[in-house]
Amino acid sequence: MAKKGQKGPGKPFLEWCAENGERGERLANEFREELPTELTYGSDYKAKWKCLKCKHVWRAEVGNRTRSDKPTGCPMCAHNAPPSKTNNFLAWCEKNGELGKKLSREYVDKDEPPTAVTKASKYKAKWKCSNVECKHVWRAQVGGRTKSVKPTACLKCARNALASKTNNFLAWCEKNGELGKKLSRECVDKDKPPTAVTKGATYKAKWKCGRCSYEWRAKLYHRTTSNRPSGCPECNPTGPKQHMKKRRRGE
Ligand SMILES: [Zn+2]
Ligand SMILES: [Zn+2]
Ligand SMILES: [Zn+2]
Repeated sequence: MAKKGQKGPGKPFLEWCAENGERGERLANEFREELPTELTYGSDYKAKWKCLKCKHVWRAEVGNRTRSDKPTGCPMCAHNAPPSKTNNFLAWCEKNGELGKKLSREYVDKDEPPTAVTKASKYKAKWKCSNVECKHVWRAQVGGRTKSVKPTACLKCARNALASKTNNFLAWCEKNGELGKKLSRECVDKDKPPTAVTKGATYKAKWKCGRCSYEWRAKLYHRTTSNRPSGCPECNPTGPKQHMKKRRRGE
């Protein structure tokens, strides 16, 4: 029970450490706060810790480190742990619901079985998109696909993602300054309005050059890509490279 003036329930953290053998000693040594006595072992205060093994410094709730059921440890050591029977990509998938199911289905690497890599591995595994209309095969780091913030996904599907009110070519143009203005002016496609396609679409839209009035078709993502976007083939007969040179010369 929490006593008044203490942060969280239970006895003081250091007292708990002294009673908990090797584990207690390690936690006391990893603890990097200035006033340890104020904290109880069950506190939800995010204290600073320094790993005795790898010297990594991180913050974690005291109570999460002292609890008996699956206490947390150094995230860096966990990240770099070699695959084992319980710590491997397949085991991770089994514990991660829909996402786990999808990823284990898409993992088609023949060189490294899914039990031979960890979910945080930098290994560039082979994946096959589970979208039956896509089936795109590509390589990507295992860790990139499993991370909780912005995990990587099938690029082809992302490109062909359905346009929405906020995700469409016109909205993209409005957010992309001069290039956006130019492209929204030059897009003269009658079949698909600019709000019905995305900036990454593989759809070949119709364009009309703002300088020479030449009309041609080009994939949307070729014109919006940040890596050498394509321009008017009449004004730039030798392709995007020449286009870039001209721009650099300030023409
Ligand atoms: Zn560590
Ligand atoms: Zn796909
Ligand atoms: Zn032109």
